[in-house]
Amino acid sequence: MAIAKAFGKSSEDKKKREFQRLAALEQLDLLDTPRDEGFDRIVRLIKQVFSIDIGLVTLIDAHRQWYKACSGMSVDEVPREDSFCRYVVDDEEPVIVKDASRDPRFAQHPAVTGESHIRFYAGVPLKTRDGHIIGTVCAIDRSPKSFAARDLAILEELAGAAMDRIELLQSAATDSLTEALTRRAFKQEADQRIVQALRHRHALSCIVLDIDHFKSVNDAFGHAAGDEVLKSVAAICRAGLRAGDLFGRLGGEEFCIVLPDADRERGLAVAEKLRAAISAEPVRGAYGALDVTASFGISTLSIVGKDIETLLAEADAAMYHAKHRGRNQCVAWSSIRPDPTTGSRRRVLKAGSILFNNRRSTIDCTIKSLGADSAGLTVSSSVGIPGEFTLCIKGENFETLCHVIAQDQQNVEVVFKL
Ligand code: GH3
Ligand code: MG
Ligand code: MG
Repeated sequence: MAIAKAFGKSSEDKKKREFQRLAALEQLDLLDTPRDEGFDRIVRLIKQVFSIDIGLVTLIDAHRQWYKACSGMSVDEVPREDSFCRYVVDDEEPVIVKDASRDPRFAQHPAVTGESHIRFYAGVPLKTRDGHIIGTVCAIDRSPKSFAARDLAILEELAGAAMDRIELLQSAATDSLTEALTRRAFKQEADQRIVQALRHRHALSCIVLDIDHFKSVNDAFGHAAGDEVLKSVAAICRAGLRAGDLFGRLGGEEFCIVLPDADRERGLAVAEKLRAAISAEPVRGAYGALDVTASFGISTLSIVGKDIETLLAEADAAMYHAKHRGRNQCVAWSSIRPDPTTGSRRRVLKAGSILFNNRRSTIDCTIKSLGADSAGLTVSSSVGIPGEFTLCIKGENFETLCHVIAQDQQNVEVVFKL
């Protein structure tokens, strides 16, 4: 009885810590942010110092491990349950595996048995000042290795350097590649414009744009070509905006705009102008001329006071509709959710479960935006998710039946069947 009680308490405690961990990760707002030379240098150092194949700096949300920096591998993220690093987060301490093929936790793992042939793994927590483990820094090799106490101390120092860089970046105002405002700076400025717009009863619109099939540019022509495309799209957007407008980089190939004094029609017109300008002009470089298009979502401040998180979530959801409808087009949030009082959406980061097949099947997800009657979810793969399912938010007693209205490989847009 005493054991059962102690067990129950520790699992409650674990849930609470996971909840706080996700809150800390949300606060830092780092997931899916652009590549950064400072983190790239850390992963290169890991490879050189330990003479190994792979170095990673990662962040772990509710359902996935996302690579902030990666050297030696060509993936961006893996499902959390498939990651070696989940043990670092679960156990809250470093994990060292000298030979994964002899470790019962990993011996049958496809990365060990398959082509990747992973053998050695050392992962240490990436820990905030408040002690929340938001991710890991790790060293991986295809041959078994020993890792001395001194090596572990070096890896922990590198994790400390990564955390210092994260904190430093919190104060950066512009993105070095595109000169757009960073996500954080954009949001601060945007909230000020929103306060002014509400005070003076002026309109204000928000645009989110995402380059179409950008991954194929990187895959076919390399990262340098991808970077050229990003710079070119940013330059076209800036040229098409007015001095008082805000232009920021939300993530890798995702940009955001705030247009003060712009109602829905003007917001749509500006988005349409930028869409046409991007698709009209191929990006020219050493690799030839590349045709580039982008999909746009537009949201507008309404009678209901909204903050930038809400406007971004709504524009983002509208942008997914534009993707769903065939890309290279503009969609306004109000055209999908016309009722401004029930339709509004907030950006969140919550752990969720998708239940179907009479609750026999479960898929972990991260809820990235949430409204009174709709939500935006991310999953490792949307394959096999049915058109209707039950969505639960872990630890919040929230459960509702949902209907899928748009989806791609990793994003699922749903409305609740109330
Ligand atoms: P979709 O039309 O659905 O948006 O497809 P997509 O290929 O654009 O979308 P996806 O999100 O799959 O790919 C985004 C890619 O952007 C993956 C990532 O490697 C790349 N990326 C992120 N940041 C940078 C960067 O700073 N430079 C370069 N070159 N690529 C980046
Ligand atoms: Mg994208
Ligand atoms: Mg894209």
